[in-house]
Amino acid sequence: MTEFDFIQQYLHRQQQDNELVLGIGDDAAIVRPRSGYDLHFSTDMLVGGTHFFTDVAPEDLAHKVLAVNFSDMAAMGATPRWALLSVALPELKQDWLTAFCDALFALARRFGVTLIGGDTTKGNWVFNVTIIGETPRQHALRRDAAQLGDDIWVTGLLGLAAAALDVYLHKTSLPAAVFAQCEAKRLRPEPRVALGKELLSLAHAAQDISDGLAQDINHILKASNVGATINVDLIPSLPDLRLSDAFLPAQLYHWLLAGGDDYELVFTAAPSQREAIMAAANRATTSVTKIGTITAGRELQLINHAGNVIQLQHQGFDHFG
Ligand code: ADP
Ligand code: MG
Repeated sequence: MTEFDFIQQYLHRQQQDNELVLGIGDDAAIVRPRSGYDLHFSTDMLVGGTHFFTDVAPEDLAHKVLAVNFSDMAAMGATPRWALLSVALPELKQDWLTAFCDALFALARRFGVTLIGGDTTKGNWVFNVTIIGETPRQHALRRDAAQLGDDIWVTGLLGLAAAALDVYLHKTSLPAAVFAQCEAKRLRPEPRVALGKELLSLAHAAQDISDGLAQDINHILKASNVGATINVDLIPSLPDLRLSDAFLPAQLYHWLLAGGDDYELVFTAAPSQREAIMAAANRATTSVTKIGTITAGRELQLINHAGNVIQLQHQGFDHFG
């Protein structure tokens, strides 16, 4: 199959989009932004061997490459609208691409996102999506907006993807049913777009958790010039991970705080918003848990129920660290 067959046969699919003037097929796509909205641009790259194993199922890879980008939009309360997909593959295999594109378009459709362009080259397993989203003008959730006394919340369950990865790295073993739940979370993160939109009127600062909670919340603390205290015993995870005697505390804390690949949201909001946030979480069918407080200290302090200070060995993932 040639590059042009791929574009013609696999990527040209009719998608309903009122703001799309010109889609795939010309030198560039044209979109017409809605008046009263700001546009958000972000890009996230997945590299074979670093972010995924190259024998990954094409459906799972398609899900992940879009979902991690939708998650960046969710973190700002933005609605993802348009995506560009750049692909470097050693060869264009028909069955593989059919499965990949079917999954890609299925997820795009579920979130109302149109694929408007990209690039295709021969190369060694790189998938890059550029995502464009929108928020009502000047309402976006940003990292620099946390306020003293805010509650700190997270969505979903943390640590599952990191635990699944440690199974591959032979650093741990998990019972089959527990591994299945962790692996599903590693392969198919669910972007919290619906909740992000709800939080536009409720939260102060937000960020998605891709490199580990400890490192990612530090971005909020730095940008907002504040500190935080988090109770590690409140961080939501699978009871099978939390309550098992099989894991050392250091391993559990690594998964919860530094493992990465969670694609959940961490956000801050005034305590007066607690009930409204619970109601919003209900509407978005996303669980939320309050895990700490924004402080004046400018540092992240981790404590447990007993009041002991927890020290982390590594804060989170850094490609060059
Ligand atoms: P050019 O040579 O002008 O860059 P291409 O031949 O690379 O154009 O691409 C033709 C059209 O197909 C363009 O609209 C481009 O955005 C689109 N396209 C190419 N590869 C992809 C891809 N992997 N995903 C989505 N659209 C793509
Ligand atoms: Mg090109």
